[in-house]
Amino acid sequence: MSDHSKNSLTVLGLGDMGSALIRSWLAVGCTVTAWSRSARPAPEGTIVAATAADAVTANSLVVVCLLDDASVRATLDGIDLTGRDIVNLTTSTPAEARALSDWIAARGGRFVDGGIMAVPSMIGVADSGAYVFYSGSTELHETHAETLAIPAAVTYVGADPGFAALYDIALLSGMWGMFAGAAHAFALIAPEDISPVDFAPLLVGYQQAMAGYAYGTAAQLASGDYTEGVESNLAMMVTTNDTLLRTAAEQGVSPELLTPFMDLMRRRVAEGGGNESNTGVVDLLRR
Ligand code: NAP
Repeated sequence: MSDHSKNSLTVLGLGDMGSALIRSWLAVGCTVTAWSRSARPAPEGTIVAATAADAVTANSLVVVCLLDDASVRATLDGIDLTGRDIVNLTTSTPAEARALSDWIAARGGRFVDGGIMAVPSMIGVADSGAYVFYSGSTELHETHAETLAIPAAVTYVGADPGFAALYDIALLSGMWGMFAGAAHAFALIAPEDISPVDFAPLLVGYQQAMAGYAYGTAAQLASGDYTEGVESNLAMMVTTNDTLLRTAAEQGVSPELLTPFMDLMRRRVAEGGGNESNTGVVDLLRR
């Protein structure tokens, strides 16, 4: 393990994620100064600052991990950020991250936004798969790349401070679609003598097999030809959807998680996309 005893940084936020980040930096010998709005227990070895301003003054690298954009603004408001490198790991929208970047630049600081693709128990754990999207100041990113790589792998997605949030939220949005499908599937089997525990590996296996479908969607979006390589045409899928909906009715399950997507598929067929795959749904969402 590298010696980081000369590295020091500040963390604003002692919530579940802020504390996990701090533990990972302390574990490799970094000196961490932290602040939290409420008195919360800090990981052993943390220097706890009395005010956010004191914490920001303590180090040039300031990692912010608070609840939301409003809490970041409220915390940094009025604090001198001259010469500070602010890394915001608070989940934000792309526009919020861009506006925050401008706001911090106007106060003399450099800014990188981050989107954490992990839960706290994965932070600082080798091979956990945890990584963080970063975007914003390339200079800041290059200066602190080694320190930022300690809690989780770094995926830098460019100088636009909004991109880390956009990648983060796009992946989270995809995740909700997958969770919605799983919730509907479990609801379908719930009335029967089928163990959800036995069913889970079948569901996971099928979802994993189908996840690669996104590569085909990407290729079609790139080429503009939505009929390229189609083996499950949209007209067929829309007919099959009626069977899915009748099954939901038979099993006493609300179709509310499925119908918004099915409505879009039906609209695309009505507009002449029956021989495509369902890539055209992306265009319908953008109207
Ligand atoms: P958390 O445990 O709820 O902690 C939130 C922190 O924000 C606390 O320190 C809280 O201080 C502070 N805070 C809330 N409102 C504030 C305000 N108005 N002014 C100043 N401080 C305020 O949340 P977390 O799990 O650490 O998550 C922090 C960020 O990481 C979030 O943006 C979250 O989306 C992101 N994230 C979390 C996870 C996860 O699984 N936990 C995963 C990826 C990303 P008080 O003690 O005073 O309330």
